[in-house]
Amino acid sequence: MQNTQAIETIFSQSKPGNRAVVFPRCDVPERPLAELIPAGQLAGNPPPLPESAEIDIVRHFSNLALRNMSVDTHFYPLGSCTMKYNPKRNERFASSPKLLALHPGQPAKTMQGQLRILHELQEMIAEISGLPGVSLQPAAGAHGELTALLVAEKYLTRKYGPKKKTTVLIPDGAHGTNPASAAFAGFKTVEIKSTPEGLVDLDDLRARLGDDTAVFMITNPNTLGLFEPNIKAICDAVHAVGGLVYNDGANMNAICGIVRPGDFGADMMHYNVHKTFSTPHGAGGPGAGPIAVTEALAPFLPGPIVVKTVVSESDATENDATENGVDKNESNENGGMRTVYRLDGDRPESIGRVRSFFGSVAMLNRTYFYLRTLGGDGLRRMTEHAVLNANYLLSSVRDFLDVPMGGGRCMHEFVASAAALKTAKGITAMDVAKRLLDYGFHAPTVYFPLIVKEALMIEPTETENRATLDRFAEVLRSIVAEEPAFLHDAPHSTPVSRPDEVAAAQKPRLVEP
Ligand SMILES: *Cc1c(COP(=O)(O)O)cnc(C)c1O
Repeated sequence: MQNTQAIETIFSQSKPGNRAVVFPRCDVPERPLAELIPAGQLAGNPPPLPESAEIDIVRHFSNLALRNMSVDTHFYPLGSCTMKYNPKRNERFASSPKLLALHPGQPAKTMQGQLRILHELQEMIAEISGLPGVSLQPAAGAHGELTALLVAEKYLTRKYGPKKKTTVLIPDGAHGTNPASAAFAGFKTVEIKSTPEGLVDLDDLRARLGDDTAVFMITNPNTLGLFEPNIKAICDAVHAVGGLVYNDGANMNAICGIVRPGDFGADMMHYNVHKTFSTPHGAGGPGAGPIAVTEALAPFLPGPIVVKTVVSESDATENDATENGVDKNESNENGGMRTVYRLDGDRPESIGRVRSFFGSVAMLNRTYFYLRTLGGDGLRRMTEHAVLNANYLLSSVRDFLDVPMGGGRCMHEFVASAAALKTAKGITAMDVAKRLLDYGFHAPTVYFPLIVKEALMIEPTETENRATLDRFAEVLRSIVAEEPAFLHDAPHSTPVSRPDEVAAAQKPRLVEP
């Protein structure tokens, strides 16, 4: 069981003279810091660091970690976030010393293998999305949204002139990052209503489309876990006024390998590789949010983009010859020709850089390995199992928990509502979510999307087995039958029960007072 005693901060455990590492006695003359560090860069005294033995540091952080929930320790049905299990083989691959020892500043000819990985990943992302222009640069989904909107802004300005296309339309069920990214990119945002069925209200959309429409941002399947059946008509209507369609790709776990956003009319999209492609998720990153766009938008993408060229052996030896043998076979077959991967530096239309070096390469390597191990068929099976698991769970909870939209069907997630429970017994979505922690389940996403009252957004993902889903459904069934007063105080078994969530976010206390 969890240890519920308070853990002191590492600073308050500090004792002067405690050491994790003892260095050997210095056998060269010591020089004062001021001689080694340029004037002006040495400000004041060094920051106070905790002084601890290694064993105390390890225990401190291990005990803190034990108080948390993670995909490795608990079922984590956090809707929209796709908290799937990350296979350990991805970690082993990404930890290969050959990849870890690379430095982004070293010459391209000495990292042909890494560049080949990035190039092949660009091609896979293009293939899965049906959109040929790819930038691996953005550091997360939200950063991908912003980057793609800046690309759109530049393209639309070239095409229609400055300040003509000023408005981004966003459905009311959208993730908060969509309006935030649009505002950040300098656009005006307008909200589009949903129908009572939770889909885009086509009449409202048509009424708001106009000459000023720059982009319609849609999440498909949407945050209710519903595929938009009018997607083609929506894209056509947006294109008819010269606008572009942005597909928020956070829910790609529901359609990968089955339908491609580029085929249903999207002009650009992002991926959350930490959701769809199983890379570590949360805890402040690093993440990656590659974007894919149409051919017309591709010249505006940020670089660097890895390009593959085939050169003759003699040119290759002079220029960026690969020394590591990766392409030897190919070169032999091609009769004196050799494949060389280069960074595309000549991008005069590009919006410029959005991230240092090549982006979050360690995450992109995990993504690559995940996709290579699954292959096209495996990717389709991933999606099919994600949708099957969500529908199985939906049908297991429907007799005691309302699922107002979707008519008993969903894609990879569904949104239940505790509104009726609240009216009847005073049990809120928050009460249910908090009580789940007592049973060793991470809570679902709550109070999102805003268009469902007392929302509990549940996404099991494809990596869970049937026994886990059955246990989760049984626990939910027992929770909604519990005493409301007991639920209001839940969780009862965790080190912290109900923190003041707003204060914890806005005024975090990270050290002892
Ligand atoms: C997670 C998510 C985002 C933002 O992605 P980050 O990688 O967290 O920046 C955007 N839209 C939707 C629908 C999401 O679920």
